[in-house]
Amino acid sequence: MSPVLTDLTAAEIRRRVASREASCEELIRAHLDRLAAVEPAIGALLVTLEDRALDRARAQDRALAAGAEAGPLAGVPVVVKDLLNITGLATTCGSRILEGYRPPFTATAVARLEDAGAIVIGKANMDEFAMGSSTERSGFRPTRNPWDPTRVPGGSSGGSAAAVAAHMAPMALGSDTGGSIRQPAAFCGVVGLKPSYGRVSRYGLVAFASSLDQVGPLARTVDDIARVATVLCGQDPRDSTSAALDVPDFAAAVAREPEGLRIGVPWAVLEGVETETLARFREALGSLEAAGASVVEVELPHLPHAVATYYIVATAEASSNLARYDGVRYGHRAPGIIDLEEMYGRTRDEGFGPEVKRRVILGTFVLSSGYYDAYYLRAQKVRTLIRRDFERAFESCDAVATPTTPTAAFRMGEKTADPLQMYLEDIFTVPANLAGIPGLSLPCGLAGGLPVGLQLLGRPFDEETLLHCGAVFQRVTRHHELTPPEPSSTGQQA
Ligand code: GLN
Repeated sequence: MSPVLTDLTAAEIRRRVASREASCEELIRAHLDRLAAVEPAIGALLVTLEDRALDRARAQDRALAAGAEAGPLAGVPVVVKDLLNITGLATTCGSRILEGYRPPFTATAVARLEDAGAIVIGKANMDEFAMGSSTERSGFRPTRNPWDPTRVPGGSSGGSAAAVAAHMAPMALGSDTGGSIRQPAAFCGVVGLKPSYGRVSRYGLVAFASSLDQVGPLARTVDDIARVATVLCGQDPRDSTSAALDVPDFAAAVAREPEGLRIGVPWAVLEGVETETLARFREALGSLEAAGASVVEVELPHLPHAVATYYIVATAEASSNLARYDGVRYGHRAPGIIDLEEMYGRTRDEGFGPEVKRRVILGTFVLSSGYYDAYYLRAQKVRTLIRRDFERAFESCDAVATPTTPTAAFRMGEKTADPLQMYLEDIFTVPANLAGIPGLSLPCGLAGGLPVGLQLLGRPFDEETLLHCGAVFQRVTRHHELTPPEPSSTGQQA
């Protein structure tokens, strides 16, 4: 019952469970109590899995008592974004169209965590089909930023980030198609890793844009991220896009010394960054330099085209992926209609929210025969140029650094009327998805009292260098120890 248990890292939780200093049940109860106290003010979760979590905790305690070995995530409470399937439990993807859908299988990412001893305590709110940067586009309700309930937590994994920031769980799973792990991590003051394309299985992840989507973790320390990444990464025969590569020893990477690390900064493209956010970024570079890393300038000449490119590629793929929600196979079906086409149309009209509709229409347009060459094909070419920009940059550095976002968390409602303003939030995060490279967001202090993030981007499949660099940063700074104010227990949910 001690509230202190909810301040522990995953590594410390696992240590206590393995040494029998704490039981899984006691740990899960502490987190469920914390969740019950703070969730009304934040709204991070769509469902709390109290009974399932306690059953699993007790089962794990019994197994440990009988001599079983503690897994690498033994007893660690985890929150899972509601686009990862768990057998028999509703998966909504933040959409009314999936209401009532219960998948008959579990996502590999979740299964790997559970096999390692982690215990899922809830499914996190998100922008519908992961389309958004604020979690205001959830088909159910928005999530609030634990640092300031009038502000957004970022998105689309806003529920996952808010849950970790508010100490409901020490770690969470999210997905990142154009920044949806890194941007909410930055806005909520936690660490988020988008692994390289192909590093983590997407089996059981509801698809948004298949050439960009990746599953990844959020936590409060780089050590915890390394711990969960070791469990999460690796080839899966059920996902043909998962790479046949060995998973390195991420724990060894975080223990390394900083000597020889070269950080590349694309100063020319950082012009639009808000003053205080930029100041925190410069200080973060200073901390890394003081620790022994060197900072060089790099060029990413095509980065200014990344948002436009992303919103063509992502919407094109989404329009195709979301064609399956027709009222026949999944979730919602418009009632009382005899004509098949009318049933498709009405189901999609009732089930999808405005942002999803906008993207399906835009994606269908850019793929249409008259405009394919002008938009989709052109975007694919620019995508290649962006990837080459990074290849060139990595000739002179080991990681590219930018602020994760141009500003700290914006106010709720501030950008919903103007989708373009919302899309421009993604300027620094979408390039990694277009290039398929890994990205890590680290808390690097406060701007106007709100957290902002340092983003590090690495070579394909070089998560190791990012974790190494992130661990060095957390050894020499204390930004990750900052915690949001306690939310009012009376609840502020609008
Ligand atoms: N904010 C971006 C979008 O709206 C990225 C979303 C994501 O990564 N899932 O598409």
